[in-house]
Amino acid sequence: MKKHILVVPGDGIGQEVTAVGKKVLERIAEKFNHEFTYDEALIGHVAIEATGNPLPDETLEKMRASDAVLFGAVGHPKYDNDPSAKVRPEQGLLKMRKELGLYANLRPIKLFDELLSASSIKPEILKGSDILFFRELTGDIYFGEKGRKDDGNTAYDIASYSTYEVERIARKAFDAAMTRGKKLMSVDKANVLETSRLWREVVQRVALEYPEVTVEHQFVDSAAMLLIKDPRRFDVVVTANLFGDILTDEASQIAGSMGMLASASIGDGTGVYEPIHGSAHDITGMGVANPMASVLSAALLLDISFGLKEESDAIINAVDLVLKSGMRTRDIADANTPAYLLMGTEAAGEALLKFL
Ligand code: NAD
Repeated sequence: MKKHILVVPGDGIGQEVTAVGKKVLERIAEKFNHEFTYDEALIGHVAIEATGNPLPDETLEKMRASDAVLFGAVGHPKYDNDPSAKVRPEQGLLKMRKELGLYANLRPIKLFDELLSASSIKPEILKGSDILFFRELTGDIYFGEKGRKDDGNTAYDIASYSTYEVERIARKAFDAAMTRGKKLMSVDKANVLETSRLWREVVQRVALEYPEVTVEHQFVDSAAMLLIKDPRRFDVVVTANLFGDILTDEASQIAGSMGMLASASIGDGTGVYEPIHGSAHDITGMGVANPMASVLSAALLLDISFGLKEESDAIINAVDLVLKSGMRTRDIADANTPAYLLMGTEAAGEALLKFL
């Protein structure tokens, strides 16, 4: 298969982990006789430094022209500590989602058995958890009108959803539920929010097209509690942008570390595949970042955008084998990990290539 992949490492550890993700894709192409070509582009702080724009037009054009994007992360402490900065790295991320129409963010939360002890949740509660989140990505309070009034003393962010926006993500989630356990949880706050009442109405309507799927509606506060209390109760979850942002970070603890979780942002055009973690400036340049999330993002890319399931499974299997060998990056190591099994980003990449 011939495909063109755009690599957009972004900022901080995005650079370090995406390099490993790309090497894994190269090895897969070699092993399975595919012809993948690559290009690179800037986003975030590095793009602001080079061009003044967090998402240069050139990057957007290259994204549109590629078959899939392997993305790193954006962010820099300079902006985190200066809320008044007008040009910000995350504007690049939000604009990319909007411009590419990436309305569905898929986050598989699957626990590798070897990491049961790395989570802060009891192993007997966790074992067997396997959740697929669908977070709506281009609507809600993040994209509504925002501003200040009363001489800057009152601030507002408007949340809005249209029937169309809810319908299209609900369908994607129901389709996925049909290929899994035929169970879907829709998370909202319909007792308080009008956007949530519309959300629930639309999900109920779409549910009529999927009579085999058992649907459960949960308020977001209750869902947040249940996720820790009984994660195995969850299968496919569909929720709005803000609730999904928070719940998926909470769910990352089920997998033991942010460094293990991949995500896919898809719409009707080019899909973008990225770790759920950020640019992690506390460890940037130290060579200790866990590259597995980027590598698992590459696996999602092969599966979802290219339909290469066997190749995708080969990557997941290699990750499993590295973990089974006892090797650990710092974030997933525990008190029982001997020093000689502690590995940095590059060593993790080499181990993955060896197992592949
Ligand atoms: P973060 O995800 O970057 O880091 C949170 C913690 O997890 C840190 O202690 C970090 O060292 C650790 N961590 C994250 N990924 C890791 C990995 N692969 N291996 C080992 N440890 C890992 O979140 P943060 O600290 O809240 O934010 C840092 C910057 O990233 C901010 O500028 C923020 O705006 C940005 N950010 C970007 C994205 C994105 O690009 N999608 C997402 C979240 C945060």
